[in-house]
Amino acid sequence: MILPKGKELTAVQLAEVTAIVGAFSCRIQPIIGAMRSIYAIVGDERDELMINRLEGLPYVDRVDRIQSPFKLMDARSDLASHAIRLGGVELGRELFVIAGQCTIDPKNPNFFYETAAAVKEAGAQALRGGVWKPRTNPYAFQGDDKSLEILMEASRRTGLPVDAEVMDEHQLRLALAAGVHTIQVGARNALNYSLLQQIGRAIAGRETVVLLKRSLHMGPIAEFISAAEYIASFGNPNVILCPRGTAPAPDGYRNHPDECIVPLLKERTWAPVVVDPSHSVGRANYVPAAALAAIAYGADGLCVECHVAPSQGIGDDPKQAITPAALKELIGKARQLWSLVRG
Ligand code: PEP
Ligand code: MN
Repeated sequence: MILPKGKELTAVQLAEVTAIVGAFSCRIQPIIGAMRSIYAIVGDERDELMINRLEGLPYVDRVDRIQSPFKLMDARSDLASHAIRLGGVELGRELFVIAGQCTIDPKNPNFFYETAAAVKEAGAQALRGGVWKPRTNPYAFQGDDKSLEILMEASRRTGLPVDAEVMDEHQLRLALAAGVHTIQVGARNALNYSLLQQIGRAIAGRETVVLLKRSLHMGPIAEFISAAEYIASFGNPNVILCPRGTAPAPDGYRNHPDECIVPLLKERTWAPVVVDPSHSVGRANYVPAAALAAIAYGADGLCVECHVAPSQGIGDDPKQAITPAALKELIGKARQLWSLVRG
């Protein structure tokens, strides 16, 4: 739908927009109003280049798209009834909780084994553990291939599916070969389309699930859903959206909590939404409130950093990880809130 700056397009302007859309197999249907005329684009109006060319015209105010840019992830797409199952849960049917350490310490594997058993006992249905870590300081610990074996051993011991972030193709290959169930795309890489493409291609035809974090630099909600759409376009639509806070942060929090976008996501896409309150507020004592807020907003689940001995952890764990006792209490409250919200 083309909205001109003036009351209507001149004959010359109309000929120009008609030629532009014609090159993309569309035509123009003028809708003449008393105060202002608008021009409907008839045909597949999703081509980015066509929209850019129209928006670049000095006499066009804006171009509104009626069709969703998401063929697969749109709430009205044929995939809307697609169920994503993880850890014995069909997402959306009951509260889903993924919990575990930010970072696996390869020198202290027992911490991770104990954490894994404890998060299971607390009620989590999946286990997270950072094998490779994106860091603010490149000289900080960036992870270790050895931690992958620890992650998979914890999965074997608990029977929980596991989630780990990958940042490149080498890590992706190792993770899939080891049997990692959920590939996490971190906030720093959510707009790294070549990585999303590699992941999309690698998981096609598998049961693998992707936990896609929201990038700090993502603007409109559509950008987040488009990243999920891109992964799904290679054949596997098992993509979970994970808001985890954006910038700038209010003083005292690590990021700006963004669980409030859940209803917007839910309106536009069928993808399950699992909120990460740990990276959002960035402090263990604020995590339960942020987690419950996410459930109140309609999130399908939570991704929470948890450690049996947070002060002895590495990565984010000393600051952000909650204890298994706190996790158990949180899951109990989140289940009650879930029933209240979903009635
Ligand atoms: C993490 O999950 O430990 C992590 C680094 O997350 P994010 O990419 O959201 O910062
Ligand atoms: Mn972390």
